[in-house]
Amino acid sequence: MADNCIFCKIIAGEIPSTTIYEDEDFQVILDINPASKGHALILPKGHYANIYQLPEDLAAKAMKLAKKLAEHMTDKLQCDGFNLVQNNGEVAGQTVFHFHLHLIPRYLDGANKDLLTWNNLQYKDGEVKQLEELLKC
Ligand code: AMP
Ligand code: ZN
Repeated sequence: MADNCIFCKIIAGEIPSTTIYEDEDFQVILDINPASKGHALILPKGHYANIYQLPEDLAAKAMKLAKKLAEHMTDKLQCDGFNLVQNNGEVAGQTVFHFHLHLIPRYLDGANKDLLTWNNLQYKDGEVKQLEELLKC
C-alpha cells in the first residue's frame, strides 16, 4: 500500500466505495464522478502507479477482466457501446497515480457525446517512414 493513495485506501477499506466485483488481484468500483451511467474502474489490489509499473501477468489479467465486465455491464445496462480508457501520466489525463482501467458504458442518448474525440493531425513527408523505423519492434 502506498502512502496517500486514494485507491490503496479504498482497497484497504479505509475509504468507502461501491464495489461491483472483487477477486484476489482486483477490485472493480464505480467511479465517483462518472462520465456515464455505470462508469467503473478496474483497480489492481497492489499499488502500481501506471502501465509501466504494472507486471505483465496483471496487465493480461486486467484485460481479461475488462472483457468479462464489458460483456456483463453491456448486458445489464443495455448500453449501446463501450470504451476502455487507461491514462498514464498527468499529460495523458491521469489524476490518480495507482493504475486503473476505466470501463465506460456509452449510450446513444447519453451525456458526454464527444468524450474521447480529438482533432486528427496530418503527418509531414517522410515522417511516417521515420516512425516506422523508430518504432518497429
Ligand atoms: P484518471 O483521470 O484516469 O486518473 O481517473 C481517476 C478517476 O478516479 C476519475 O474518473 C475520478 O472520478 C475517480 N475517482 C477519484 N476518487 C475516487 C473515489 N474515491 N472513488 C471512486 N472513484 C474515484
Ligand atoms: Zn495505490
